[in-house]
Amino acid sequence: MSVSPIHRRLRVARSVPDVDREAVTAAAATLLATLGLDLADENLVETPRRMADALIEMTHGPEFDLTTFANHEEYDELVVVSDIPVQSLCEHHVLPFVGVAHVGYLPGERILGLSKFARMVDFHARRPQTQERLTKAVADHLQEVLAPRGVGVVIQAEHTCMSLRGARTPGTRTTTSTLFGLLRDDPRSRAEFLELTRSRP
Ligand SMILES: [Zn+2]
Repeated sequence: MSVSPIHRRLRVARSVPDVDREAVTAAAATLLATLGLDLADENLVETPRRMADALIEMTHGPEFDLTTFANHEEYDELVVVSDIPVQSLCEHHVLPFVGVAHVGYLPGERILGLSKFARMVDFHARRPQTQERLTKAVADHLQEVLAPRGVGVVIQAEHTCMSLRGARTPGTRTTTSTLFGLLRDDPRSRAEFLELTRSRP
């Protein structure tokens, strides 16, 4: 292994402007009133603010520190963190899609604290997007900070825009995957990763 710092800490934050909570609340009130809700009703008077807060929370992942460590033990087997909860919003309907992520990598010179996989998934999940793009965003981020020998991300999710409206097919799951390096190109590593991330009943 070449010389690399033992700890390396990166602040992960989004480059989006601060949200104007009052403007989102006003827009939510307009939307709800247009849909026919009586916002003067005492049960609904606070709904636009609550709706705004919920949407802001679901579209802005919290910042966090991503600490990587030198791989002094030269651990070179697959690391897989499974069943990380995923909650995001589809960008076409702004309705939730909910499921799990399985994230794995073959370490190179650096390794990542295990809890950071869930933080990274949550950070990228909190924005309107497609499941495909979310899957690739997590894989790209791991590739960037770890430069591992291989990266794999599998996401399985149910899209409420498909289960609660439109096709109305509850229980239908969508699976997406992004594989880089040896997890894509080496048949043994690829098979091992996909076996470990295969959905369980
Ligand atoms: Zn949708």
